[in-house]
Amino acid sequence: MSTIPRRKFLQLSAVAAAGVIVAPGREAHAGDLPHVTEDDPMAKAMKYTHDASTVDPASRNNPAPEQNCANCALIQGNDGDAWRPCSIFPGKAVAAAGWCSVWAPKA
Ligand code: SF4
Repeated sequence: MSTIPRRKFLQLSAVAAAGVIVAPGREAHAGDLPHVTEDDPMAKAMKYTHDASTVDPASRNNPAPEQNCANCALIQGNDGDAWRPCSIFPGKAVAAAGWCSVWAPKA
C-alpha cells in the first residue's frame, strides 16, 4: 500500500485527471514538453528539485532510500531519458534525476 496520505493522493489524482482531460488521446513525449522549473508554483508546492541528491533524506515523508524521478511510480516516458513526463506535472517534463515530495515506489 502506498504511503501517500489520502488527502494528498486525492489532490494529485485530480491534477493528473486534469492533464488527461486537457490532452485527451495525446501521448506525452518528453522531447515535446517544456521542462518544469523549480520556481513553478506547483513544483514549489511539491518541493520539486532537479537534483534529488540535494534533498535531506530525513525531510522525506517516505523513508525509502535512493529516491529520484526515474524510480518513482508516477514517472512516464522512456527509461534512460534525462527529462520525462510525470503525471503530477501534466504538459511538462521533469528531470530523471529530480525528486518531489510525492515520490512513490514503483510496484
Ligand atoms: Fe513526478 Fe515522482 Fe519526480 Fe515527483 S518524484 S516529480 S511525482 S516523477
